Amino acid sequence: MSRPGEAPSAAIVTVGTELTTGLRLDTNTAAVAAALTGHGLRVAETASLPDDRASLARSLGRLTRECDVVVVTGGLGPTHDDVTREAASEALALPLDRDADLAEGLASVARRHHDPEAAAHVFRQADVLGGADVLPATTGTAPGQIVPTPGGGSLILLPGPPSEMLPMLEVALGRLPGTDRAATRVLASVGLPESDVQVKVERVLARSGWGEGIGFTVLARPAEVHAVLTDEGAGAETLDAASRAVCVALGDACFSSDGSTLAETVLELARERGETLSTAESCTGGMVAAALTEPAGASDVFLGSVVSYSNEVKVVVLGVGDSLLAQHGAVSEAVVRAMAEGTRRATGSSLSVAVTGIAGPGGAVPGKPVGTVWFGVADGSGTVAVTRRLMGDRAGIRTRATITALDLLRRRLAGLPVG
Ligand code: AMP
Ligand code: MG
Repeated sequence: MSRPGEAPSAAIVTVGTELTTGLRLDTNTAAVAAALTGHGLRVAETASLPDDRASLARSLGRLTRECDVVVVTGGLGPTHDDVTREAASEALALPLDRDADLAEGLASVARRHHDPEAAAHVFRQADVLGGADVLPATTGTAPGQIVPTPGGGSLILLPGPPSEMLPMLEVALGRLPGTDRAATRVLASVGLPESDVQVKVERVLARSGWGEGIGFTVLARPAEVHAVLTDEGAGAETLDAASRAVCVALGDACFSSDGSTLAETVLELARERGETLSTAESCTGGMVAAALTEPAGASDVFLGSVVSYSNEVKVVVLGVGDSLLAQHGAVSEAVVRAMAEGTRRATGSSLSVAVTGIAGPGGAVPGKPVGTVWFGVADGSGTVAVTRRLMGDRAGIRTRATITALDLLRRRLAGLPVG
């Protein structure tokens, strides 16, 4: 339990033998940790446990004594291995009773089952711990529960599937007393090394005397670096001023200060400027198009993509000359230019980006090691081509190529130098 004046402490337990055996990747811990931190809680411990009632009960007993808030995900479904309710009941010595209203709500779900025994299992999801506040299911069938603990804290039980869990977590956090959302600003940049970002942010904070009231951390992802500023007493106005100053210090590498992704930034710039976009992709296999279509409503500016993985598609669909391919090879300036121009013609977009490169592990040729990638950007005023030597394994190179292609579009749209 936290002391007066301290941020409330929290623990996260993800439940599922599929997590402890590596059959499924635990993404809930990171998502819950980010949400709890964003609500001003201090995450003291995280654990993944198998579907084992006794060990889960022991952990929940200890964690509910030590922490103000314990969030558990998983094990709330109808099957035999869903034991979170029973483990919580044992840990807190609370009765587990079937809620008549919840059971009635599950009746239509039960009717969809063919086997009467299976249908009966469905109603286990209506079992509620004594004194718990029920969190209605939105996308799935399992409701969540907020259970008061003897020490005055809360045990929050949530379903495992991330799409069911996350909206319920927001509702649960909204019901907890004293968990105000801590203000943070994320300055997202592309093209700058992590340590450069760190030094730039440190200098801005030190110069302005903001170091005391503002915390900061640097989070690197392939090809992107995020500087996260947190209000630690400085106040919202100072946080905004610091955020603006950091953005200026990062220069044109800084693409967003409001949480927008690089793809969202590109789409918004295209919208503002009345441009339409297309891609021609070889080594990224459509990843740039996938990124541009991830935000809903991209169809007003994104027209389409040609995944020209083979030379034949480059020739037939994009109109890349046979002789260019023969003379320069598929990973070359001449071919990437022709690809960018070809997809612009084929889709009728005003602006296009093309990618062709060697993602590895094989495919290197003399003068073109693995990681060699050519990018082309074409619009009504002409075509620009740039090459990069990207680091990493195949997945890393493809991710970095995707980010680089998006960034070239951003730079072209923002009137920044490309190349
Ligand atoms: P459950 O609530 O235990 O029935 O969870 C059902 C499904 O949710 C699992 O099969 C996983 O696919 C998914 N899931 C459960 N826990 C996690 C987790 N920690 N991270 C990501 N997915 C999860
Ligand atoms: Mg499970």
